[in-house]
Amino acid sequence: MNDITPWAQRILRGDRRALARGLSWVENHTPEGRALLRALFPHTGRAHRVGITGPPGVGKSTLVYALARAYRQPSDATPRKVGVLAVDPSSPFTGGALLGDRIRMQGLAGDPGVFIRSMASRGAVGGLARATAQAAQVLDAAGYDIILIETVGAGQAEVDIAQLAHTVIVVQAPGLGDDIQAIKAGILEIADIFVVNKADRPDAAVTRRALEEMLRLAPARENAATTSGAEAWVPPVLLTIATSGEGIPELVQAIDAHRAYLKRSGEGQRRDAARLRAELEAWVREHLWETWRARTRSEAWDAALAAVLARDQSPDEAAAELVRRACPPHHQA
Ligand code: GDP
Repeated sequence: MNDITPWAQRILRGDRRALARGLSWVENHTPEGRALLRALFPHTGRAHRVGITGPPGVGKSTLVYALARAYRQPSDATPRKVGVLAVDPSSPFTGGALLGDRIRMQGLAGDPGVFIRSMASRGAVGGLARATAQAAQVLDAAGYDIILIETVGAGQAEVDIAQLAHTVIVVQAPGLGDDIQAIKAGILEIADIFVVNKADRPDAAVTRRALEEMLRLAPARENAATTSGAEAWVPPVLLTIATSGEGIPELVQAIDAHRAYLKRSGEGQRRDAARLRAELEAWVREHLWETWRARTRSEAWDAALAAVLARDQSPDEAAAELVRRACPPHHQA
C-alpha cells in the first residue's frame, strides 16, 4: 500500500490530481482509500452539502452547472469553491466522455475552483450512498465550500443519498400535470427547497401552486426548531430557468438562508449527529465482520452453508453458531 501521508497533504493543499486519485481509492474501497479517509477526517466538517434530486429530464444537471457558475462568479461576495458529485446509479451515460463534454459546454472546464466527479455505476447501489458520503468528505477536506450532490429521485437509495446533504433541493418541471402527485411521500419530506425549473414553460405557475398546496397539507417535518424555540423552516417553492440563469441568484439566497436556519435552530447539529451516528454504526458492522472473517476458517463457513442448504439449520441459527465459535463470550468483554 502507498504511504498515505504525502497524498493526504497534497489533497489538503488543493492538488487536483491527488484529489482525483484519492477519490478513486475511496470509491473502490481500497486500503489506501480507507487510510486516506482516516487522515482527512479531522479536516472535514466545513463544507455545506447541497442535494439536488428530482425525476429525469427536469433539468437537474443544467441547474447544478448554473449554481456552480453562480458560486464562482458572485456579484457581491468572494467566489466559493464548488465540488459536484453526479450520482446516477441507473445510467452509465453520465460518466466518462459525455460528462467531460457537458463540463466544457457549461464553461466550467479549466476553473480550478470547480471539481466535478461522476459517481455513476461505481459500486453496488447499496454502497453508493456510503461511497458518495465518503467522496463528499474528501472534497470537504480538500477545501470545497459547497458540495452539490445530484441524484435522480426515484427510490430509497436516492433518498439516502439526498439525506447526506445539509440542504435538499427537490426539482420538478411544469407539464408533469397530475404526475406532481407522484412525488413520493419520502421525497416530499426531505425537501428543504422546491424548485420548479423550466419556468419558461406556460404552466409553471400551475405547478408551483400545486406544490404549495401539497406542502400546506403535508405534516410538518420533524426538526429541532420546536425544541430550541426557533421558528420552523417552511420550504420555499422557487421558479428557475436553468438554461438562462433566471432565478438562480434567488436559489443561492434560499440555500444560504437555509444554511443560516440550520445553524440558529440547532437542526444542523441534529442532522450532523444523526449522520455521524449512522456512519459510526456502519463502521462497527464492518469491523465486526472483518474481525469475524479473520477468525473463521473457510471449512467452518462451508459446513455452515451445507447445513443451511440441507435445511438442517436456518441461516439465522447457523450464523449465530459461527459467530459464537469465532467470538466466544469471554472475548466479547
Ligand atoms: P436532468 O435529467 O434532470 O439532469 O435534466 P438536464 O439538465 O439534462 O436537462 C434536460 C433537458 O432540459 C435539456 O435539454 C436541457 O437543456 C433542458 N432544460 C434544462 N433547464 C431548462 C429550462 O429552464 N427551460 C427549458 N426550456 N429547458 C431546460
